[in-house]
Amino acid sequence: MPEVTSNTRVFALLGDPVTHSLSPTVHNSAMADLELDGVYVALRSGPEDLVGFMRGLARSGGGGNITLPHKEKAATVLDVSSSAVKRTGACNTFWFSEGRIHGENTDVEGFSKAVEVFLGSPPEGLRVLVLGAGGAARAGLLALVEGGAEEVHLLNRTRDRARVVARRIGGAKVRVVDHARDLDGKAFDLVVNTTRLGLEPDDPLPMDLHRLSRVGGVLDVVCRCGATPFVAAARELGIRAADGSEMLIQQAAGAFQCWWGGKPSLRVMRTALEGRLRR
Ligand code: NAP
Repeated sequence: MPEVTSNTRVFALLGDPVTHSLSPTVHNSAMADLELDGVYVALRSGPEDLVGFMRGLARSGGGGNITLPHKEKAATVLDVSSSAVKRTGACNTFWFSEGRIHGENTDVEGFSKAVEVFLGSPPEGLRVLVLGAGGAARAGLLALVEGGAEEVHLLNRTRDRARVVARRIGGAKVRVVDHARDLDGKAFDLVVNTTRLGLEPDDPLPMDLHRLSRVGGVLDVVCRCGATPFVAAARELGIRAADGSEMLIQQAAGAFQCWWGGKPSLRVMRTALEGRLRR
């Protein structure tokens, strides 16, 4: 990385918590690889700090990413929203250009590419169960619907939040599930965890997979050293499963392009992530 000077562009991940974040590792390695004059940090920020941080970072010539629980609020701070931000009502990437704060939701493409890597093809014609209805669920839902999923069932702790998300994004293809017990005996080609469960060591599993009669695969958007507990539980039942590492890399590559106008090396990003997860 070049020496940090008064010209260095500052990028930050804004959210709470951010101590688990792998984004600084991924972005700093990609910038160093291309000898770009930028630095990426993680800043814990409550709802009252978000707007000030976003405006300050953007106007200083940098930008950043948004993580839980602020993706929906961040979408309201932007002057210029991409179509993915407009459709999901969530923003994970912001920057400054021509006097205005721009926002993108690279989680949509990141999720879409991660699903394709996992399945070997787009989710065309699949029956999918999505757990969660926060910012990551909004991105996942849009990617699944656009990718041609036949039916998406949405289960969230707060049912009304799932209803709002389903109305906004899914249309007729998305069905809100009232209770986990309503899933008993049902079959899904793919189960996706977009809740934050798995981030902390003592978290319960987002759902008991024994309830379902058949699961083709499990994708957990949470990243943890080794397998996440949900990924481990799926594998114990003989179900193919992957964590959120591929999505992390793909959404980071999208954000990098918004800030620098060129593509990062996915190989460099993956190597940095794997090194960090092994530590
Ligand atoms: P968010 O907007 O804050 O939403 C959190 C979700 O988790 C909501 O559905 C929430 O349900 C649910 N939840 C929280 N605590 C729960 C509990 N105790 N029991 C059941 N459900 C609970 O967060 P987000 O931005 O969507 O992020 C969610 C996760 O995705 C995080 O772990 C984040 O790191 C991960 N993520 C990964 C990537 C990647 O690139 N791999 C990208 C984006 C996000 P309620 O609505 O009931 O509160």
